[in-house]
Amino acid sequence: MTTIKERLEEIRRRMDEAAEKAGRDPSSIRLIAVSKTKPVSMIREAVAAGVTDLGENYIQEAREKIPQVSGQVRWHFIGHLQTNKAKYAARLFDWIHTIDRVEIADALNRRAGMENRVLRVLIEVNVGKEETKSGVMEEDLFPLVEHVATLPQLSLKGLMVIPPLTADPEEVRGYFIKTRRLAEQVAARNIPNVSMEELSMGMTSDFEVAIEEGSTMIRVGTAIFGPREMS
Ligand SMILES: *Cc1c(COP(=O)(O)O)cnc(C)c1O
Repeated sequence: MTTIKERLEEIRRRMDEAAEKAGRDPSSIRLIAVSKTKPVSMIREAVAAGVTDLGENYIQEAREKIPQVSGQVRWHFIGHLQTNKAKYAARLFDWIHTIDRVEIADALNRRAGMENRVLRVLIEVNVGKEETKSGVMEEDLFPLVEHVATLPQLSLKGLMVIPPLTADPEEVRGYFIKTRRLAEQVAARNIPNVSMEELSMGMTSDFEVAIEEGSTMIRVGTAIFGPREMS
């Protein structure tokens, strides 16, 4: 049995290797440890091993776990967000990766204002054009960016993508490239309160490809905490 610490060392080694291959500075890539469904004891173990960024998908679960984790960690919300949960998201999380419509942006902005916080947010894009997936369609991206830019409690930092499921990480490369190009197009418009410095792309099965294509935030669960039980 390997420990969480050993798995993290291995992931960091692979991150460095992928960065080097792409001619990138490894320190420009942030590892987000995705702890959904995993107990607080494992999260504490990861934090003790140097993890500084944690990702959760479910508000109810996050409300129970986050207060039990001490230390200097940043929490990233990476799940699908409903407007009736915006209150908790604005209170618990530092980063929200999954803005995909005006209503959720407005709800978060309002709740963040009540909490006196500015949230760093990413817009999730549905580059695979999958009907059943969340994320904004490409053609609706620019209007959404322009709207988020007007919201004082949200600071737009970049884009996030969950590519269609496929067994082949190379097939996924095209979706990462697409996402990076969209971010470049947004950045070129020089909109106030809009930065495209972050690209949240890459999970256990494809984070090296994501790093090669410019990811600044990889979201890794299984490779750190082991497989999740289906729920
Ligand atoms: C669960 C999840 C991850 C982590 O996936 P692994 O394959 O376990 O690394 C990353 N991103 C999102 C949005 C997730 O829901």
